[in-house]
Amino acid sequence: PSSTSSTFKPVLDRIAAGIASTPGRGRPADYIPALASVDPRRFGMAVAELDGTVYGVGEWRQPFSAQSITKAFTLALVLSREGEELWEHVGREPSGNPFNSLVQLEYENGIPRNPFINAGALVVTDRLQSLTGDTVGTLREFLRAESGNPDLTFDESVAASESAHGDRNAALAHFMASYGNISNPVPVLLDQYFRQCSIEASCADLALAAGFLARHGVRADGSNLLTRSQAKQVNAVMLTCGTYDAAGDFAYRVGLPGKSGVGGGIIAVVPGRCTLCVWSPGLDERGNSVAGVAALDRFTTLTGLSVF
Ligand code: GLU
Repeated sequence: PSSTSSTFKPVLDRIAAGIASTPGRGRPADYIPALASVDPRRFGMAVAELDGTVYGVGEWRQPFSAQSITKAFTLALVLSREGEELWEHVGREPSGNPFNSLVQLEYENGIPRNPFINAGALVVTDRLQSLTGDTVGTLREFLRAESGNPDLTFDESVAASESAHGDRNAALAHFMASYGNISNPVPVLLDQYFRQCSIEASCADLALAAGFLARHGVRADGSNLLTRSQAKQVNAVMLTCGTYDAAGDFAYRVGLPGKSGVGGGIIAVVPGRCTLCVWSPGLDERGNSVAGVAALDRFTTLTGLSVF
């Protein structure tokens, strides 16, 4: 469902006008060619209310590469299935290191610092693969159901591009496997992980799909994915670890649980109220969307809505 007018629509219009007149938007991710070619000045933003009403501004219906935003969903899908057991395999502290860093793994016996750095996300994907036999299919079905978009899928060419430039992720997976912290064959895991990252979805899709995090674990159809406590856990990890090694700055500026991806998207959660997704492909040096963070910063300033 969607509507053209709502509480936050005038706020979104003000934010978009402000973004449009702001020079300097960062640069798109250039570690794979498939992402480097997107115009960094594109912008869209959507808000989804708890009842599934969604509206937006700019290119809010335009699919983009979700990348690491998918890690919030795979974390929730694993937590819902195995609960606390997960935390024996991955920590939940901010890493203070870049998203694809290897350094800390050797000192901490192959246990990554949190589920949102690449090493931790690989562990989560590995566990979802063991639990379901099909990480990407499970994730895609979940995102389709929650967003109501039956066409939502991954982009084979982006996944292939990731795979062709995947030495770092392969190294992380093999290194953790040497500690016994990966169960599936590394090539199987990497294939699932790259396709997971290549999911294409719009701001509307992702704002709706994250709705269970604002509804304390309740899915769009009223069933429970997570307990109230588990929804809090995912939101807490997003707040502390969800925006690469800039999570402190993001909490300071925006004050909401958020998860960003190198495609330029960011989802954010106002528990008990709404979810947001913003997309603009120009990134800062830590990998977060410049206009995306600015727009969310402005949203919480204008509305007074934050978890603080
Ligand atoms: N597929 C990307 C990688 O693992 C995800 C990057 C991101 O969005 O953080 O390199």
